[in-house]
Amino acid sequence: MFMKNTKFVFFTGGVVSSLGKGIACSSLGVLLKSRGYSVTILKLDPYINVDPGTMSPYQHGEVYVTDDGAETDLDLGHYERFLNLEMSALNNATSGQVYYDVIQKERRGDYLGATVQVIPHITDAINERITRVAEKNKCDILITEIGGTVGDIESLPFLEAIRQFRLNRPVEDTLVIHLTLVPYVAGADELKTKPTQHSVMRLREIGLQPDVLLCRSDRELSDVVKQKIGLFCNVTKEAVIEALDVKVIYEVPLKYAGANFDALVLKKLKLPAGKLNMIDWENKIDRYYKADHQINIAICGKYVTLPDAYKSIIASFLHAGMENDVKVNLKWVNTEKINDDVSKELNDVCGILVPGGFGERGIEGKLKTIRYARENKIPFFGICLGLQCAAIEFSRNVLGMEKANSTEFDKNTPFPVIHLMENQKTVKDMGGTMRLGSYPCELQKKTKAYLAYKEEKINERHRHRYEFNNDYRDDFDKNGMIISGLSPDGQLVEMIELKGHPWFVGCQFHPELKSRFAKAHPLFREFVAAALTYAVENKLVMKR
Ligand code: GLN
Repeated sequence: MFMKNTKFVFFTGGVVSSLGKGIACSSLGVLLKSRGYSVTILKLDPYINVDPGTMSPYQHGEVYVTDDGAETDLDLGHYERFLNLEMSALNNATSGQVYYDVIQKERRGDYLGATVQVIPHITDAINERITRVAEKNKCDILITEIGGTVGDIESLPFLEAIRQFRLNRPVEDTLVIHLTLVPYVAGADELKTKPTQHSVMRLREIGLQPDVLLCRSDRELSDVVKQKIGLFCNVTKEAVIEALDVKVIYEVPLKYAGANFDALVLKKLKLPAGKLNMIDWENKIDRYYKADHQINIAICGKYVTLPDAYKSIIASFLHAGMENDVKVNLKWVNTEKINDDVSKELNDVCGILVPGGFGERGIEGKLKTIRYARENKIPFFGICLGLQCAAIEFSRNVLGMEKANSTEFDKNTPFPVIHLMENQKTVKDMGGTMRLGSYPCELQKKTKAYLAYKEEKINERHRHRYEFNNDYRDDFDKNGMIISGLSPDGQLVEMIELKGHPWFVGCQFHPELKSRFAKAHPLFREFVAAALTYAVENKLVMKR
């Protein structure tokens, strides 16, 4: 469908955080896309950091990296996985970025004579960003997700900007959707609408009247409840859409379609409804439910109580499980706590993954789990830091280099098998200075890596400062740890794998950032396939 003007849908959130605004935006996007519209999503984050790259996973969860090397909010991962689209640096703006730009302009003298203020300078900058994303993507519909919850001081400039944005446009060109919670109170045996009413009140106080209310709830909203919410929040009953809890997040678009959410949005934007075709999507969900076996795979890392830190990895296993017709259970193993005898923790798993990470904590534990996987021929997948740890483990326990290490953890190690990349040595600022984004890699034929991709030239996303030390390449190669992927100039080791092991693969990049609901990442798909084979051979497959 070709449209001259982009339509703008704004998503705000109320009552509590973690209602899944990112998934809601993505799911609406999927339906609109299916109906023939080109869609993209912009995330506005109200914090002052220029990007989340400098935050701890405890603060922010995973940092999602785009092809063009931006460190962004994890919601961009949902957008890409659901919509099967590539996001860019433009698709995520923080308050920090907006203020930074405005202050730079002020210093240059662009506002000479003026007092620089939140209104209009910051709000103009926000709106300029929104329009720029629409223009750059030439999309029919731009969905903008505003991070945080209505009532937060931080998000006020964004909401004010949207108020101004709507002011000068035809009513049917913009839409505000407010996501709220309608909790069930057991004592009263009732769904409660008051939190929604209050949250909409806060929105209206600042001049935003939501057009649609998307109400998260653990049970159906009766007509009476919808009527009541509508009455108090100044929308019709039809504009109160229930968003029920689901087992798998990818069911959300189907539920929304059932609730006519997308049709309502298009009607309000005065756009033809187009034809919705979600057959492939439904089939995939069916396939997920039909898989009647399950296996356990261990994730050996530091943030085991913080699944947000590994959001894309969790999603990648869901995708890969679906394509292997098996349910993958993730067993979280805290490598800071693991004993010498790792077999107790790992005897029921048929695959071991060591994810990316920074800093020394938990490293020795990771090395133990890797040794266990290598020696017991359990499928192993090492991602970024996981590859680096696999290299350290191999150096110490196979090549006999006792104190081998990464210089990230031991500056004076006699065997620096992992060391700082040359161009990182002069880096002073921490923000945005890693090797970031998509880089090409060439695979050696007849390797597990090549068998997974079935291509010699691949592109994958990176986020690291350290690399495999080329001085040790020959030693590794001669002793069975082959270098299966290299940067095109042959200088950077991108992938390694162990000969004579069913599946022992490490990659310096982050494949989890390119797995999609529509298409699992080849490395995850093959890792799960190998884990399943191991599970069958070792009677570790369980009935679901
Ligand atoms: N800390 C390692 C590095 O900087 C690994 C990074 C990662 O796993 N993303 O190279």
